[in-house]
Amino acid sequence: MRTIGVDLGGSHVLAAIVDENGTIGERHEIDVVDHDPDAVVRIVADAIAGALADAKNKADIGAVGIGSPGSVDLMTGVVHYSPNFGWHDVALREMIAGKVNRQVFVANDARCATLGEYVHGSGAGTRDFALLTLGTGIGGGFVSNGAMALGHASCAGEIGHHQIRRTDGFFCNCGKVGCFEAQASGTGLIRHALSIAASFPRSTLVSGKPEKLGSKAIRKAAEAGDPHALAAWNRYVDDLACGLANVIAFINPETIALGGGVASAGAFMLDAVRPRVEALTTMTPRGTTNIVVASLGNDAGAIGAAAMARAGGMHAAGQPAPAESAVSA
Ligand SMILES: [Zn+2]
Repeated sequence: MRTIGVDLGGSHVLAAIVDENGTIGERHEIDVVDHDPDAVVRIVADAIAGALADAKNKADIGAVGIGSPGSVDLMTGVVHYSPNFGWHDVALREMIAGKVNRQVFVANDARCATLGEYVHGSGAGTRDFALLTLGTGIGGGFVSNGAMALGHASCAGEIGHHQIRRTDGFFCNCGKVGCFEAQASGTGLIRHALSIAASFPRSTLVSGKPEKLGSKAIRKAAEAGDPHALAAWNRYVDDLACGLANVIAFINPETIALGGGVASAGAFMLDAVRPRVEALTTMTPRGTTNIVVASLGNDAGAIGAAAMARAGGMHAAGQPAPAESAVSA
């Protein structure tokens, strides 16, 4: 049986028809320009209809899973709070179900991506796994003993907002100082470069237009040996390693997968971060956690949302079971 996975982002929505192996068939993407709930629901429904229109055989296509930004009540599908969309208590599941005439499940987008990587990607074959997506912020999730860690209020996995520099860190969008996300997201890398710019007066990295500076440019310059970029990169990797060592202390995962734009640095990042994490891993046996680059890329959210729909919801997908049967329950 195939299911429909939807990855709802701040700027675009992807609807994909996904088979039981996590392979995407038909897909349809639409830009999101209006964040009003009715407008977003219309676009999600259009994206689903677009993917279905391209599918030749629709008979075996079942439920819809949606990964949405924000805190989501897994039982009701209500998005309680989404800072990206400015939403409070939007009944997303009910609104979409009314338009697509299929069973609909909704969960946080980062948890969907974690489920996708766990079942079909870099976490397949493990039972203890963490995904961290290093983008504008840091999204992620945990799998512990074969089960998604969901939490009492469905909000476990907000790893981006654990503080790693409480007194000397950058200000976080959430109101705290020195959150993991403020220090070690792609945005964090830019902040590190800007914060030390005065020490590199001859650097061309910023060149008078700090708002144009991107994390990719800094990473490339660091790889090429630019002193300013390299100094920023080293501070960045120190902070990233601190957070990863904390994750290891929390759940002792077999694998931590790093996704998002910064992780595309691949070996350059892994070679820098692995020894730092080892040095900060004290109470957990060192060397027992593999740190890898996530394998599903930008499709992880849609693939995970489809896996959630196949299982009959995130709670069902999160039951302790081997990876394969986790989605056929
Ligand atoms: Zn924060």
